[in-house]
Amino acid sequence: MRIKDFPKEIQPYLIPKEQGELIYRCLGCNKEFGIEKLLYTCPDCGQVLLIYDINFQRHKKIPGEIWHKIFDYRKMLTISSVKGIYRYHEFIGPILPLDAIVYLGEGNTPMIEANAPLKEKVGIRFFFKNDGQNPSASFKDRGMASALSYIHFLIQKGRISDVLAICASTGDTSASAALYAAYLKPHIKSVVLLPHKKVTPQQLSQPLGSGAIVFEIPGVFDDCMKVVESLSENYNVALLNSKNAWRILGQESYSYEIAQDFEYEMTDKVIVLPIGNAGNLSAVMSGFIKFHETGIINALPKIIGVQSDHADPVYRYYRNPDPKKREFIPVTVKPSVAQAAMIGNPVSMPRIIHLVDRYNQRAKKQNVFFVQVNEQSIMDWELIANRNGHIACTHGGESLAGLVAAIRQGILNPNDIAILDSTAHTIKFSGFQDMYFENRFPTDFEISPNPELINSTVYIHPNDLTKVPQPGKPLTGDDFKLFVRRVSDEISSYLKLKKNH
Ligand SMILES: *Cc1c(COP(=O)(O)O)cnc(C)c1O
Ligand SMILES: [Zn+2]
Repeated sequence: MRIKDFPKEIQPYLIPKEQGELIYRCLGCNKEFGIEKLLYTCPDCGQVLLIYDINFQRHKKIPGEIWHKIFDYRKMLTISSVKGIYRYHEFIGPILPLDAIVYLGEGNTPMIEANAPLKEKVGIRFFFKNDGQNPSASFKDRGMASALSYIHFLIQKGRISDVLAICASTGDTSASAALYAAYLKPHIKSVVLLPHKKVTPQQLSQPLGSGAIVFEIPGVFDDCMKVVESLSENYNVALLNSKNAWRILGQESYSYEIAQDFEYEMTDKVIVLPIGNAGNLSAVMSGFIKFHETGIINALPKIIGVQSDHADPVYRYYRNPDPKKREFIPVTVKPSVAQAAMIGNPVSMPRIIHLVDRYNQRAKKQNVFFVQVNEQSIMDWELIANRNGHIACTHGGESLAGLVAAIRQGILNPNDIAILDSTAHTIKFSGFQDMYFENRFPTDFEISPNPELINSTVYIHPNDLTKVPQPGKPLTGDDFKLFVRRVSDEISSYLKLKKNH
């Protein structure tokens, strides 16, 4: 739709303008730093940072109902830079001009409601929000679009050039970083560090295909992260891990989209998501807080963070009900099918501690909960979800297992509606499904397949057939007729089909 055809009251707001003043704020010493330079940790005390708009108050002058219309009408624009996460430009990157924005189709992911049988099995109404339907097939694209748009902006301004972008990854960060960096060729080169044999073949193929330099190193993600931190402290490289606070801003779009898809009615809503490095949970809380402060949503949804008992440092921290007695202790991770969340020392832990407090204070009650699930339940629930028409990855399975655990623990009300983050596409982690179906999980996963959930191919090759087609050697004439008839017979008898005449 053309600008002049939109309602008059919305027209001035429709196209986002450069505005606001962003600063990094340290979560340790509260010092503020300008955003002209890329900072990842506080130069004074070394803590992680969050980005704030020091003119945020201006958003409160616009009534909530007008914001609703701005976002709703923006959906109709044909300008590509506001088709993704920057529909919420004012809340994500208000200082960015539209021509700095990198849009590769991220955001706007669908919410798919559970069908009646699945809802019945689980006990409440719920949706999967399929963040696997982002361009590199995980939610990481939301944060990467933000981080790379900002770097692109610095390049356009001539403040930096020939950027070497680096990240450590459990697979999806590197896939996403490599994709966006490839798009910004030749200004950005991408380097990724992966734990050897700890990412799936599909995830490995992604940065390789995008042309990144891919290093595999021994150890787990936490070890890769330490190397990348050391590189970013000592050399001139741009860090793309979620330590980079720009990633968090972009990932807030997940919350904004949920709010908009429920027409900004957040009463009785529950968001369930897996926790790895805890960047996503930080972003989701921060996003809802901003919309609530601005009067765009009427209530803060309940939030449930889920961890596998093979990688559960955040769950363990919050297990102690007395905040004064809580102590953060990194854990040594064990193999997990929720491999992208297999992190023992989450970089965003200080952000979580800060944001959970703010979230609960705003809600005036405990509104953030943490549950623990086992590997078996993650796999079982992933397979059950997908047998009911979903495309959940193992982490989506973890969300669903977490929802079931939360219901059992009485954290939810019967009329609550849950939105589950399926953080990546199921095919990225299909190897775990194979291991389940073929019953070959190494023992340390502690997973034994439920026979009812196993599926496998049925090979049809009638014994009496001496000639069958082969690549480059098709059958012809009576041989081919016989082949088609015999194979059809076997399939129809396997399926117990009835003749239609
Ligand atoms: C990165 C990732 C996670 C964990 O998100 P954090 O922000 O690190 O907590 C979960 N699932 C998938 C598929 C991921 O790629
Ligand atoms: Zn500091």
